[in-house]
Amino acid sequence: MRVKKGDRVRVLTGKDRGKEGEVMRAFPAQGRVIVDGVHRVKKNQRQTRATMQGGIIDKDMPIPVDNVAVVCPTCGATRIGFRFDDAGRKIRVCKKCGSDL
Ligand SMILES: [Zn+2]
Repeated sequence: MRVKKGDRVRVLTGKDRGKEGEVMRAFPAQGRVIVDGVHRVKKNQRQTRATMQGGIIDKDMPIPVDNVAVVCPTCGATRIGFRFDDAGRKIRVCKKCGSDL
């Protein structure tokens, strides 16, 4: 997956289109990510011994990784390419400016 935890991404589609946030969790198997403050829903939560807190809570739901673009510090939302460094490690680069991400 091209997006990982800690990335800054912009949402491309859906009701949160245009929002930017940090990837809080990534689910490579499902191709989904949770982005801070995106696709936030209110959930009624029953009070349990585990949570010690009932009522309505805000929860960010996973969205398809195809719906977000990684934000390059220089160009903004961009597409990701790859290059290999001298040690053969795969490094993500911005397709617009070529800088490492
Ligand atoms: Zn760039």
